[in-house]
Amino acid sequence: MSAIPANATTTDPAQTAITRGYGAHSSTGPLGPMDITRRALLADDVAIDILFCGVCHSDIHMVRGEWGNQAYPMVPGHEFVGRVSAVGAAVTRLAVGDFAGVGCMVDSCGACENCMAGLEQYCTTGATLTYASPDTRGPGQTQGGYSERVVVRERFVVKVPPVDDLAAIAPLLCSGVTTFSPMQHWRLGSGQRFAVIGLGGLGHMALKLAVSRGAFATVFTTSPAKEKDALAMGAKDVIVWHPAATDPIPLTHELVNRFDLVLSTVPFPFDVSPFLPLVRQDGVFVNVGAPGALGGVTGAGLWNQRRSLVGSCIGGMPETQEVVDYCVAHNIRPQIELIKPHQINEAYARVENREVRYRYVIDMGSGHGG
Ligand SMILES: [Zn+2]
Ligand SMILES: [Zn+2]
Repeated sequence: MSAIPANATTTDPAQTAITRGYGAHSSTGPLGPMDITRRALLADDVAIDILFCGVCHSDIHMVRGEWGNQAYPMVPGHEFVGRVSAVGAAVTRLAVGDFAGVGCMVDSCGACENCMAGLEQYCTTGATLTYASPDTRGPGQTQGGYSERVVVRERFVVKVPPVDDLAAIAPLLCSGVTTFSPMQHWRLGSGQRFAVIGLGGLGHMALKLAVSRGAFATVFTTSPAKEKDALAMGAKDVIVWHPAATDPIPLTHELVNRFDLVLSTVPFPFDVSPFLPLVRQDGVFVNVGAPGALGGVTGAGLWNQRRSLVGSCIGGMPETQEVVDYCVAHNIRPQIELIKPHQINEAYARVENREVRYRYVIDMGSGHGG
């Protein structure tokens, strides 16, 4: 619980606070309640009482140590929204009582070329991640949004307009901006042909965003059961992908050289060779999902049609604000399933079994959940 009164506008910088989090003590253990310490507010810090936090597939990879050794205890969560409970003396954009959101980063150098350009995710000295990073502003390591309260530097806090469905805003802070950013950078526009590979937390956001921009969207999925949902979300067609088969996708005449932008949200290493021929002249294949190897890339597969194979990592803070504002203005929301904190382990299992439709969001504001 917060040690700072909800109506405070500034706070004693010496005052740290214990807050309830849900995290893991090891890569093999389940997540459970634990007390964590939030640092005292610096002048440009914002304290937020967290109300809703999305469950990202990368949380699971991180907690399980699948993306390298981690320090524990670890409280995951890097897409969350809540209400501002206190602000430091130098904070200008946010006030107590505002809705606010935090995504994948909580600090960066602020001085390098990329930070100056609002591309903090590409900070040349490395951005501080929302959890499992050494905290540049306090002791220990950062702890994420599966918790009741957080202290974050103002630059890394997004202002959330007042909405009735705040829970559905949370996933925009990671899955929203991760799929929005490449569409902005490579200028996906009306009438263009877009494909998304994978219809999960990221993929279904990508589909909705692409449709909202007037693109013709195709979905590649390994789950035939998701076809109906994809069409309901605006996909023009749905193609079932069998990664292990000799012919993983039907390489028809209509599909070859078809897409201006192919966005892969697949979170594991896979063979991209069936997909490269689908990229049209000067088109782009963007990977936002897999941190590991992408197999099947050939020189000829790229020089033919002058195709590009590129990656994109979340989005900078201006773009994170932009995607939240865009989705509020255009009434675009992820499809979410609300859970209580004590259901998190069950939710992880369902994400790993690809049963989630399409994003779990933890209700952090309704007590400890038992
Ligand atoms: Zn994420
Ligand atoms: Zn920087």
